[in-house]
Amino acid sequence: MSIQRKNFYFNIVINTVILGKQVAKLVGQERILILIRNAFQKIDDDYELANSQAQIAKKIAKRLRLKLPYDIRQLYCKKCKQFIVPGFNCRVRIGRSKIKALRITCLLCNNVYRKLL
Ligand SMILES: [Zn+2]
Repeated sequence: MSIQRKNFYFNIVINTVILGKQVAKLVGQERILILIRNAFQKIDDDYELANSQAQIAKKIAKRLRLKLPYDIRQLYCKKCKQFIVPGFNCRVRIGRSKIKALRITCLLCNNVYRKLL
């Protein structure tokens, strides 16, 4: 485990101990929003950076047992768990079959999954 990573977990533990769980969750939520916003701004220049920011946001949510908001949850591929953005590295289509559904194709692993309408 690298030093940076250790510090990351250490900060979260310290936050929970000193501030209490409720405050730590609020801080975590705020950081998740900041990270996702940054990831969106950076995605055109540097996908690696945007992806790592998104993964950190997910890790914070996991550690603090927060549920990510619906529209943020849609930004992760269900199979390869990478950060996907419509128009950049995923495709969103409305199906033409009887069952109306959104087809979301991840262009990194070519996995297709459906959201029923
Ligand atoms: Zn994928």
